[in-house]
Formats: sequence, C-alpha cells, structure tokens
Amino acid sequence: MRDQLKRLEELQRHDAKIQELENALKAVPAKLAANQTDLARVEALLASERGQLADTERYYVDQKGQLEQDEENVTGAKHKLAQAKNSKEYMAAQRETESRRDGVASREAEVLKLVEAIEAKKKILAERAQSVEELRASVEKDGELARARIAEIEAKIAEIRVERDVLARDVKPEVLKRYSGIRIRRGLAVVGVRNGTCRGCNMNIPPQLYNVLQRGSSIETCPSCHRIIYWEDLMKDAADAKDGAAG
Ligand SMILES: [Zn+2]
Repeated sequence: MRDQLKRLEELQRHDAKIQELENALKAVPAKLAANQTDLARVEALLASERGQLADTERYYVDQKGQLEQDEENVTGAKHKLAQAKNSKEYMAAQRETESRRDGVASREAEVLKLVEAIEAKKKILAERAQSVEELRASVEKDGELARARIAEIEAKIAEIRVERDVLARDVKPEVLKRYSGIRIRRGLAVVGVRNGTCRGCNMNIPPQLYNVLQRGSSIETCPSCHRIIYWEDLMKDAADAKDGAAG
C-alpha cells in the first residue's frame, strides 16, 4: 500500500502540474485578444480620421472651384464698369465690383484656412499612422511569442501526461477511481498526516485511525474532509527503502 500511496502522490503532483499548465495556456489567448481589440480600436479611429480628412479635401476642391467662379464674377463686374453708359450704371457696376472683390477675398481666406487645416491634419495623421504601425508590429511580435509559448506549454503538458499515464497504470483501478472522485470535488485528493493532524483540513485524526495509518497497509480517508490520507513518516521510510533498494 505504501507504493500505491507513493504513486498516488506522484500522480497528484503530475495532475497539479497539468492543471497549472492548462490554466497558463488559457490565459495566453485572452491577452492576445485584448491586444487585437486595442489595435482594431486605434485602426478604426485612424480610418475615421482619414475619412474626415478626405471630406475636408473634397470641400477644399469645391471651394477652389467656387473661387474661380468668384474671380470670373469680378471680371464680369469690371466689364460692366467699362461699359457703363451713365453715372447710375457706373455706380451700380462699381458697387458690384467691390462686392465681388470682397467675395473673392473671403473665399481666398476660406481656401487658405482649408489648406492650413489639411496640412495640420496630415501631419497629425502621419504621426498617428506611425504609432499605429508600431502597435501593430508589437501585437504581431506578441502573437509570435504567444504562439511559441502555447507550443511550449502544450509540449510540456503532453510530456507530463505520458509520465502521468505510466504512473496511473501502476495504481489499482479502484484506488485510482477514488482518487479521481476526490480530486474533482476537492482539488487535492491525497494529503499527509503530521502529528496526528490531517494536512488537508487541519483536523485531528482519531487515535484508532492514526494507528492504522502508521501500519500503512490500507488506503484510508480523513473522517472530516474525506481525502485519502497517509502518515508522512511512513512515506519517508518508503523513500529511504526505495533509495536503499536502488543502491
Ligand atoms: Zn482532512
């Protein structure tokens, strides 16, 4: 029975390690997904700002066209001024010329403002595109590292599973079944008893059971937490005996 307990403990160590690695494996894609979400968000923002810039550029082209029209209107007004037949016509043509010139001036100011706004926006967007590019490169690099990490963890899990299955083969099926049942409910299925106390729940083991444990000839469970228990000193002897046998 000592061998059975020893194997169970090793089995438990393997199962715990597999559990730990599986948890680590689960954490990797979550981080990657968060990175991808961040990247998608800044990319969408950049695309939206580029769309705004394109709108402004279209408005600029429209205003340039309007400016040409305004200039033609000044020419037309000047023409009327030259053709004026009397002072009334002359005054009217002069007012129109002035008004048309004002129109050109304000349109020019508008076009100049647009040119400045477009240049400023282009500069900001170039900087932003640069930082989005840096983020994308870093997300890709993280992705590569994560894929390598996943492969590494999966290989380790596979390796431990093989060892675990070899160990499990040497545990009696009914003991293995009990172990698995407790493990599902309690996590830790096999615990030591030290100074008469169960290390799983810290309750005292009845003296009668403690005597049975010290003999180590049966698989016993803690009356309080129902975990499989063993006397720790017995396991030490088992380890020494094993070393002795090997040497
Ligand atoms: Zn207990």
